[in-house]
Amino acid sequence: MVNYKDLGLVNTREMFKRAVAGGYAIPAFNFNTMEQMQAIVMAAVETKSPVIMQVSKGARNYANGTILRNLAKGAVEYAKELGCEHPEIVLHLDHGDSFELCKECIDNGFSSVMIDGSSLPYEENIALTKKVVDYAHQFDVTVEAELGVLAGVEDEVSSAESHYTKPEEVIDFSTRSGCDSLAISIGTSHGAHKFTPEQCTLVNGVLVPPPLAFDILHEIEKKLPGFPIVLHGSSSVPMDEVNTINKYGGHLEAAIGIPEEQLREASKSAVCKINIDSDSRLAMTAAIRKHLAEHPGDFDPRQYLKPARENMKKMYIHKIVNVLGSDGKLAQC
Ligand SMILES: [Zn+2]
Repeated sequence: MVNYKDLGLVNTREMFKRAVAGGYAIPAFNFNTMEQMQAIVMAAVETKSPVIMQVSKGARNYANGTILRNLAKGAVEYAKELGCEHPEIVLHLDHGDSFELCKECIDNGFSSVMIDGSSLPYEENIALTKKVVDYAHQFDVTVEAELGVLAGVEDEVSSAESHYTKPEEVIDFSTRSGCDSLAISIGTSHGAHKFTPEQCTLVNGVLVPPPLAFDILHEIEKKLPGFPIVLHGSSSVPMDEVNTINKYGGHLEAAIGIPEEQLREASKSAVCKINIDSDSRLAMTAAIRKHLAEHPGDFDPRQYLKPARENMKKMYIHKIVNVLGSDGKLAQC
């Protein structure tokens, strides 16, 4: 048994309280590699932002859970080494799909877990979430639940169509399950292909996706004042990265994300955690493709992973400062 507090990590409770009250959102960046971890920590330290480092089931399969936990422990120490005396770093399980997986993570140093029972019937979702909450809270680990279904594909999570969260269910769900935060579905979507061109409107040569359902978000906020709300599938899929990938031999067609303007608006509400994964993948791949195309003789991974790390760091800083507004929001700098 490894408790997250011994690793210097924190849970989400206090940071969410401050984020909801302060009208900003905490970034939740997925990571699978050391370079992503380094870029996240450098960005968080430079901007003095709390940060959630999240691990999906796919990341655990790829990198091994023990290694990822030690990377998170290393992240805390690295942040201190970079001059941040009181970093606020959460190690979060993204899309836990069973009580057993959540328990394993809680027992192994995670400070926060998501139990995603959104594909289950309503009562079963409550029962499973409550079971995880009852276990997690014994160790002061916070729990994110999900109500409503997001479309799109992300690692092992996929759904062909989305079902918006029903505002009339949120009070009953959060009260009976005891969850600490709630992921809702209001039109965001997993992956780098969130919408088909047919779903979008062409404005000045750019495909603009349908707007998020802010009316549903506001109804939920009215029912659960101050309760932490989470948005998944919130990469914006920057066109410059997509263009770089395609310019240097890639083939990404019709990649469309959530406009940053809408995420900025959501951050000002009870939305206090915004999940970003695809944008980091795009930033990394764009930099690697560009480097290898321009330096065909390079074969030392450090030569192309260094610009990849730099490009991810730049993207993380941009999100923190210009989209989520969590810069300068550490409790103690
Ligand atoms: Zn998700």
